[in-house]
Amino acid sequence: MRNYWLVLLLFLLAHCRSNPVNRDNILTTPTLDTVSFVKMEEHSPVPIQKTLDYDTLQWLDIADLDASILMDLKYATTDNFVKSQMYECGRCFLRPEVAQAIVKIHQDLKSKGYGLKMFDCYRPRPVQWALWEKVPDARYVADPRKGSMHNRGSAVDLTIVDADGNELDMGTHFDFFGKEAYHDYTNLSKTVLDNRKLLKSTMEAFGFRAIRTEWWHYSYQSKSYELSDMVWNCNNK
Ligand SMILES: [Zn+2]
Repeated sequence: MRNYWLVLLLFLLAHCRSNPVNRDNILTTPTLDTVSFVKMEEHSPVPIQKTLDYDTLQWLDIADLDASILMDLKYATTDNFVKSQMYECGRCFLRPEVAQAIVKIHQDLKSKGYGLKMFDCYRPRPVQWALWEKVPDARYVADPRKGSMHNRGSAVDLTIVDADGNELDMGTHFDFFGKEAYHDYTNLSKTVLDNRKLLKSTMEAFGFRAIRTEWWHYSYQSKSYELSDMVWNCNNK
C-alpha cells in the first residue's frame, strides 16, 4: 500500500512538471510599485491570480492595471467620425512603459480630485487599413503604410474627468477637426484653457508630448516601438 501512494505521488509530480504554468501571462509578471496585480475576490480571503490573454512583455491592458481609469473607447462604438464600429470590443492596450506612465498620471490626477478617461489607445494596423479605406485622406487618418503612434501602442486619446466621472470642459468634443481643438487656439473660456493646461502639463510631466491640432492626443516619447498588427481577444469581453 505504501508503494502505491509513492507511485501515485511520483506520477502527480511528473504530471505537474509536464504542464508548467506559463508565467509570462500571469498578472503578477509586470510590476508597478503602486499597483497590486493580485485581485481579491469579494468575500474570499485567498488572493486570486488572473491569467491574462495577451503577451505581457509586449502589451498591457489598462483595465488590468487600474480599473478606476474610465473607458469610452470611441472606435468600439459608432460614436466616432466614421460613424462605424471599428473594434470588435473596446480594450485599451498600450506598450508596458506607456501603460505604466498612464497609470501614474491617473494617480497624480486622483490626488487632485480628478482622473483619466480614455478615448483611444493602441489601434491595430488592420483597423488603420479599414479606417483608411473609409477616409483615404492623411489630414484625418494616418496612412497605414507609414502608420501612426497609435499603431505602435504609444499614443493615447484621452481627457480628464472630475471625481464624479464627468468630463472637464475642453472646448470641443473628441475628434473635432477644426481650429478650436488646436493648442494655440486661445479664444476659449478661462475654464477650458485651464483644463487643457492641466492635461498638457500633467502628460508632459510623465513623458508624453502633445500635437498642435488635437487637445486630446498625446504620444509617449521615452521609447520607440514597432508598428503592430496585434488584434486583441474579445472572448468574455
Ligand atoms: Zn490620437
